[in-house]
Amino acid sequence: MSAVLDDGQASAREAHELNKLSKRLHRLVGQAIADFNMIEDGDKVMVCVSGGKDSYALLDILINLRQRAPVRFDLIAVNLDQKQPGFPEHVLPEYLASRAIPFHIENQDTYSIVKRLVPEGKTMCSLCSRLRRGILYRVAGELGATKIALGHHRDDMLQTLFMNMFFGSRLKGMPPKLVSDDGRNIVIRPLAYVAEPDLERWAAHRRFPIIPCTLCGSQDNLQRVQMKKMLREWDRQFPGRLDNIFTAMGNIVPSHLMDRKLYPFTTLQTTGVVNPAGDRAFDEEEDCAPAAMPVRIHRDD
Ligand code: SF4
Repeated sequence: MSAVLDDGQASAREAHELNKLSKRLHRLVGQAIADFNMIEDGDKVMVCVSGGKDSYALLDILINLRQRAPVRFDLIAVNLDQKQPGFPEHVLPEYLASRAIPFHIENQDTYSIVKRLVPEGKTMCSLCSRLRRGILYRVAGELGATKIALGHHRDDMLQTLFMNMFFGSRLKGMPPKLVSDDGRNIVIRPLAYVAEPDLERWAAHRRFPIIPCTLCGSQDNLQRVQMKKMLREWDRQFPGRLDNIFTAMGNIVPSHLMDRKLYPFTTLQTTGVVNPAGDRAFDEEEDCAPAAMPVRIHRDD
């Protein structure tokens, strides 16, 4: 049999792969929503759409899931037009109208504020994101949204975990669900279980009209770029490692770390009772046995 596929076989294989990808994306998003009770009956979910691949994919998948979800919820897409030079302001309204879902474009010139306040050559992303967050929280209240959905994915969450460890000396990630800083909104990340390369393929397949997030001319955050490179390299060299680290974020054993606020080390007393699931200090092999840490997120269909 020839190893070279003819056009028909190649397109059949491509269609098969895309079908698998579609199923996986919808399954993982549905699973994250269920695991963290992200969307409840009667919710109005404000989906923040920036024009990047992740938020387009998030909206796309939520529109599809809504049709077959066991609960009834509404979606409203919101874009914040930050008045970056060259921002193609017609692109998102046209796309959102074509998807026939309600949307709101919020016009706020944060670009000028950031330009004025951040010294030349410094990265503007941190102030820009802070301003954007505040505006989106306010808009959510005005629109009567009960949930704010953001397009962060598994790899964003892993990058944040390592950034906090490497540069902030703390074990802190990016949660799939949280109460906003102002205490008035519930923020959800339905793409939490989705790997970025899957979103890249989905965006290409669905031909989303991507708007780059570099129109402002800001440099990418170098540390985040390095983190992304490190994680991609691990994924290439050690398949499954990222899934294992990700699963570990939901499998925390405070008694085997050293945060005295989470575990009462200072007042620890003997119990006199055998704990079969307890300390394995001398069983190095068992400690590392994969069976002790099952990977919950299956990516194969
Ligand atoms: S790249 Fe520009 S628009 Fe995007 S977060 Fe950074 S400063 Fe804001």
